[in-house]
Amino acid sequence: MTDLQAILDGIHTELSPRIGEGKVADYIPELAKVDPKQFGMAIATVDGDVYSVGDAAIPFSIQSISKVFMLTLALGKVGESLWKRVGREPSGSTFNSIVQLEREEGIPRNPFINAGAIAVSDVVLAGHEPREAIGELLRFVRYVADDETISIDDRVARSETQTGFRNFALANFMRAYGNIHHPVEHVLGVYFHQCALSMSCQQLAKAGLYLAARGSNPITGHSVVSPKRARRINALMLTCGHYDGSGDFAYHVGLPGKSGVGGGILAVAPGIGSIAVWSPGLNKVGNSQLGAVALEMLAARTGWSVFGD
Ligand code: GLN
Repeated sequence: MTDLQAILDGIHTELSPRIGEGKVADYIPELAKVDPKQFGMAIATVDGDVYSVGDAAIPFSIQSISKVFMLTLALGKVGESLWKRVGREPSGSTFNSIVQLEREEGIPRNPFINAGAIAVSDVVLAGHEPREAIGELLRFVRYVADDETISIDDRVARSETQTGFRNFALANFMRAYGNIHHPVEHVLGVYFHQCALSMSCQQLAKAGLYLAARGSNPITGHSVVSPKRARRINALMLTCGHYDGSGDFAYHVGLPGKSGVGGGILAVAPGIGSIAVWSPGLNKVGNSQLGAVALEMLAARTGWSVFGD
């Protein structure tokens, strides 16, 4: 039996001298204030155990990791027809790029870059007021994590609303192509609040369990999606979850994963467990620098890569 606690402790000790590496996201003023010298990691296994180390109980801004939960909701709502509005290919460009959108006539490459996630938020917004769509997401995340204390950090949402000019540009651009159906302020209201979800590594690891366990939370028995849908969301995370760093993450870690500019990464070891890591300093492409290193160490020491050990 692998001693997961010992592995986490070992990773933490080895990375300790490097904690603080990378650069916090400073284009969102609230995130620029976060102390980069933090590191947490948690593993929730399909057997119901949770292991953690470091700052794993401290809530942080999950940012783009929320795109996985919103995608799950949108697929539940409109099924495969979602793919008329968003593609499923890696973008090979930055998370907030606008150039590709023009060439591809307002259809974003995948649901995990900003443009794609904004289109997905528009889908979830249909038939709702923005407040209701945000409430639906919060209920969903609390349900999958089995934790009623999860909340949204309004200061982060406000900070992005005031400074998210690129996201307004992306949304307006897609609206011009008819791929955003609601007022841009409403769609972005939903999007900025989903990004402002505040969760700890422990909560996030538990929330990702349905993706590791064929669509159901093995601890609560809650059925979330079908096994086929869980498999497909994992496929998208593997190919598109780290923007233009997706190939590199697959090469080094070999697990489906989704990063956020708050410095978190959610990774899935299918059939085994769900892993969350948080270290706010980012690398050049906007993914947690030490988070990726820690996951590479974990995958190497456990043999959990989906490509074999
Ligand atoms: N809220 C961030 C943005 O829209 C999310 C980006 C990210 O986490 N990569 O810019």
